[in-house]
Amino acid sequence: MAESLARLLLRRSDGRPGAVLWGRDAVPHFGRTFDRVLARRILVERPPAESWPVCADCDGRCRDRPIVEIGGNLVAECPEDHARDTFLLPDDIRSFRIDAAALITTIAEASGLADEPVAVADGVWELGRSAAGRAVVMVLDPAQAANSRLLSLLHAHVPATDKTVLFPESAAAADYRRLRDAGIHVVAASTALAAEGFALVAALLVPGPAVQPRLVIDRAAQAATIDGKACALADQPFRLLLLLAEQARTARSDMQVREIEGAIWNGRAMPGSRQIRDIVRELRDAMVDAGIDRAIASGLVENRRHPSRYRLTLDAKDIDLRG
Ligand SMILES: [Zn+2]
Repeated sequence: MAESLARLLLRRSDGRPGAVLWGRDAVPHFGRTFDRVLARRILVERPPAESWPVCADCDGRCRDRPIVEIGGNLVAECPEDHARDTFLLPDDIRSFRIDAAALITTIAEASGLADEPVAVADGVWELGRSAAGRAVVMVLDPAQAANSRLLSLLHAHVPATDKTVLFPESAAAADYRRLRDAGIHVVAASTALAAEGFALVAALLVPGPAVQPRLVIDRAAQAATIDGKACALADQPFRLLLLLAEQARTARSDMQVREIEGAIWNGRAMPGSRQIRDIVRELRDAMVDAGIDRAIASGLVENRRHPSRYRLTLDAKDIDLRG
């Protein structure tokens, strides 16, 4: 499953009473964990929906649509036009209220934190203390993450010297910076949660040693350093590396050979028989000349999964683009 139930609930709850999980989103999680979540009253089922929101293309004229049963099917009828009726499954009309306090308590317990969670402000809880005495604070409400007074709030209500703050997914870079500048360790709650279950990963709650990026590219100087080794690159291998590094920082990590050709030769006809794989070889050779192991050089730029697509096998955090 792509996303754990705990992460889904954190994403859906801003800590206020109105947060709801609809049946359609809950169905993939039905099973033992879900039953435990119901038993702990993190989720409390509401009565089945009796009406459904307006049709997307009805300009609000059809109002809340009543859900009726027609021939054994659940249908949200559009009084304006029956062609727009929405057919619903029995689980679609189920919904669950998310109890933020119960969710917070469950995460704190699963993470083995000392002390009971305490509400610091609306949508902000101190989950408890780690064995080393570090206070772990969860900000559920995105408005609180963006609140310029959050820092003074934490200083006033969380006395521990060492603090880790868990942020909601929508928090902006500036929100992270404001707290980090004050010496607070900040991570996204979804990152700190284990892949399954409700426990936080202890190692992620403490600041780690600063990570050195594996690849540093200086665009202006046309220079590249890999694992601390300066690579002397000709124009085309440099442009290829830069292209793949820029791509690796986006959601889609690989590039079609045709896209690479277009970028390196500016869409003009390819000179002679020189091909992208020749430039890839030149790039790998330059890495080896710089003292990088041949196997690592080959693995860094690879097309094994798709012969017509190249990618750089580095995470975005391992890439530093300058100039
Ligand atoms: Zn309608």
